[in-house]
Amino acid sequence: MLETRIKQTLRDVADFPKPGIIFKDITPVLKDAALCAEITKALADQLKGVKIDVVAGIESRGFLFGLALAQVLDVPFVPIRKAGKLPYKTIQQSYDLEYGSATLEVHEDAFTAGQNVLIHDDLLATGGTVVAASKLVNQLQANVVAYSFLISLDFLNGKDRLNLFSPNTFSLVSY
Ligand code: 5GP
Repeated sequence: MLETRIKQTLRDVADFPKPGIIFKDITPVLKDAALCAEITKALADQLKGVKIDVVAGIESRGFLFGLALAQVLDVPFVPIRKAGKLPYKTIQQSYDLEYGSATLEVHEDAFTAGQNVLIHDDLLATGGTVVAASKLVNQLQANVVAYSFLISLDFLNGKDRLNLFSPNTFSLVSY
């Protein structure tokens, strides 16, 4: 089963980026070309029946399968980045972290009004990052129609926060 193979390939790194956190490292997955191809196909298959105009990927690990997914779906890809990285005119959205806050940005011409946007990231934890990304999509009058993740940490209940924007949350691996 694909979920089992992904779980067997992911690497748990203790105390990263801070003591007490066990980080799910996806780089061993990226080294397996056949597994990456299967993941991209499975991410696309989960979205059958959802009309998607654009895939938005969140910096930086959301770019990896996000662009691959956009290619399979044959739709544009939009990068949502951390503050100060995008070269053209941007809109911003700040969100709270455990300690302090962070800001995401997207180009002001990234989406057009009424577009159906899929937001992709590697991992869903508390949902704070994708909620901020969703607000960027809404600022440009576009709609979030679904979320796609490689990994979902279900015990953190991030999905509940995403329901405010879209009930369609998909992941290939859950913990
Ligand atoms: P959230 O905002 O949902 O609490 O955190 C999700 C964000 O943090 C994602 O952008 C994700 O890339 C990153 N993240 C948090 N924990 C992990 C982890 O254990 N592994 C990976 N690969 N990313 C993580």
